Amino acid sequence: MIIVLKPRISREEERAVLKEIRKLGYTPHVMRGVARTVIGAIGDELTHADLETLATQFPHAVESVLPIQKRYKLVSREAHPANSTIRVREHVLGGKKLHVMAGPCSVESEKQLLATAKAVKAAGATFLRGGAFKPRTSPYEFQGLGEKGLKLLAKARKETGLAVITELLSENHAEMVAEYADIIQIGARNAQNFQLLIAAAKTGKPVLLKRGLAMKIEEWLLAGEYILANENPNLLFCERGIRTFETYTRNTLDLSTIPIIKRETHCPVVIDPSQGAGRADLVAAMCKGAVAMGADALLIEVHPNPAEAWSDGAQQVSFDMFAKLMRELKPFIAAAGRE
Ligand code: PEP
Ligand code: MN
Repeated sequence: MIIVLKPRISREEERAVLKEIRKLGYTPHVMRGVARTVIGAIGDELTHADLETLATQFPHAVESVLPIQKRYKLVSREAHPANSTIRVREHVLGGKKLHVMAGPCSVESEKQLLATAKAVKAAGATFLRGGAFKPRTSPYEFQGLGEKGLKLLAKARKETGLAVITELLSENHAEMVAEYADIIQIGARNAQNFQLLIAAAKTGKPVLLKRGLAMKIEEWLLAGEYILANENPNLLFCERGIRTFETYTRNTLDLSTIPIIKRETHCPVVIDPSQGAGRADLVAAMCKGAVAMGADALLIEVHPNPAEAWSDGAQQVSFDMFAKLMRELKPFIAAAGRE
């Protein structure tokens, strides 16, 4: 940490600050400039006491306290310089292959889910997405089929060979969801529900962590740290758009997170253009951008008849749109050096 002292303080005040720094387990190094004196406090900021309170403890002597170390550790590239790859059934996420996870927003019926699974598989998807437990803004909206929905996802996996990703909403359901899912999705609304993150981590299944609607990247990385700190190394970060002043789109899909997450962490990055744009007509373009920028996977909502979907109808693409999108993506996948 760097402690900036106020100008013209007495040596006695300076000594009191130095004494406190040593008491908290750091070794202080005093650097005297022309106008200011700064103190470099050497010690592990993650295991030692927080020095930020020095500014309130010595209001006449301390101007500011600046942390040097990052607050996240296990997700950082410093801890794990190589890209992490995640093995799910016969697939490897974060490797050379770009994976497409596709399916309806909500599991509605056997007919709807199986038809969608077959269509997305034929077009080249490797994972089937579908919510059995739905986090709805209104309690009067469709809340999901629950365990029945999970059973349908397992049935669709058996029939098509697609791996399954589905959302976990409650700690109480962690074991049940883990029994059916190949990847557990933590939704935007729960991205900082730390007890849920711990419960998801402890199932041992890979966890896809969406970015919260109003979450800074550092907060998102720290939420991811909860998964790794609970002995689950298999974490994917998924950008799904954040709330901004813009109303033309449902959310603002922040594609700058792709190079940022890639630089800061070793974890794979997934882009969800469906929640991101909230509009089916924008999904293909957002996918192309995401692939070109280095995303490891895409999470796309597909429905047999979007106009009649029980949730998120405006953003789900039809089978035809999905197949066309998958064809159009090919040159972008090749240009990004992926398969
Ligand atoms: C979803 O994937 O359908 C969903 C609810 O996502 P999010 O948590 O990003 O809103
Ligand atoms: Mn949705």
